[in-house]
Amino acid sequence: MTVRRTLPNRERMTIGAWCFLDHFGPNRITETGGMSVAPHPHTGLQTVSWLFNGEIEHRDSVGSHQLVAPGQLNLMTAGAGIAHSEVSTAQSDWVHGVQLWVALPDEHRHASPFFEHVLPPRVRVATDGDDATVTVFVGQLCGASSPATVFSPLVGAELLISAGTQLRLPIDARFEHGLLIDRGTLQVNDELGEKSDLVYVPPGQTELVLSSADEPVRAILLGGTPFEEKLVMWWNFIGRTHDEIVEFRDAWQHDVIDGTSEQGRFGHVDFDGSAIPAPEMPKVRLRARG
Ligand code: MN
Repeated sequence: MTVRRTLPNRERMTIGAWCFLDHFGPNRITETGGMSVAPHPHTGLQTVSWLFNGEIEHRDSVGSHQLVAPGQLNLMTAGAGIAHSEVSTAQSDWVHGVQLWVALPDEHRHASPFFEHVLPPRVRVATDGDDATVTVFVGQLCGASSPATVFSPLVGAELLISAGTQLRLPIDARFEHGLLIDRGTLQVNDELGEKSDLVYVPPGQTELVLSSADEPVRAILLGGTPFEEKLVMWWNFIGRTHDEIVEFRDAWQHDVIDGTSEQGRFGHVDFDGSAIPAPEMPKVRLRARG
């Protein structure tokens, strides 16, 4: 499957608490086999699955079993530790979307894991031409509010903008923002974003002036107050120190891969197949960044 990792990148580790952004597809399932990710662990973060096309089946170690389709949000809060699998279903010919992670602030990152399936609000926004629609999957935008649980000031939304259209989107001036362009070309204030670009907008702005060109635009808007804590991100874990990451890895390898305990930090996923072993730790000590 085609996957473009746009965050973290060379210049930037986070946008608000958004700390990871993979943009995948569009891939035809008959050609690529679709998405099939066997059970793997997470700590210290939330995963956000948002699709443009296709259907994915989620299972996790707190007992959730949930399909997700375009317009719906699967939000998993890993807290102290969870495991999950994600597999595209036979219902979908294509798979296309984004996989996002949100870093949990220190005071919330040791909490018990939980899972939410959310139907976020979709609003029409006035423009100088045809309609634009905004689906607010996290936080608040354009008077709409997502019921999804987050632990720091954050926004996440899908924007659909007709060709040749300009709109002004009021934003929280405390937030930094990033716009991932999935389709079309979009001018964001003074900057031009092409397909697959992540356009960064620093804090201190009260609106985004968005102008599409001669084709419709689909974009993901992410924002939040700049995340002040330094993170250690390694494999599927977020911690604060090298030793903590070693502890997470050891728990996964010992309890799940070696099959010693189903009651450990990560629990058990009801999945037909083996869990994914962790890679070896690097020879050097991991350092906190951000
Ligand atoms: Mn995952």
